[in-house]
Amino acid sequence: MDTEAVRTRLLKRREELQTRASSARADLRHESDPLSADFAEQVTQRETDEVLGAISESAREELRRIQAALRRLDEGVYTTCSVCGEPIEEGRLAAVPYTDRCRTCAKG
Ligand SMILES: [Zn+2]
Repeated sequence: MDTEAVRTRLLKRREELQTRASSARADLRHESDPLSADFAEQVTQRETDEVLGAISESAREELRRIQAALRRLDEGVYTTCSVCGEPIEEGRLAAVPYTDRCRTCAKG
């Protein structure tokens, strides 16, 4: 398994997420879009805030998983199941790059 290619992919994805998260945060602070005085518009803006909050929360969760996967790469245990110690199937890692469990342990 080409773990350097995986690392490159994870680092690239981390950068995308960080960019997205910081621009979502900027939107939340209304840096370029101050809250409207009109009440109806305020309600709409608040709903948009909730959507942005959800996006950045899922981005944060993915970032945590990327950090963990990068740490596993550094430690040389990326392809080793953290539960049973057997190698994780390559197809599984390709489909779920942040996993730390083999197919059998993921089911259990
Ligand atoms: Zn396992």
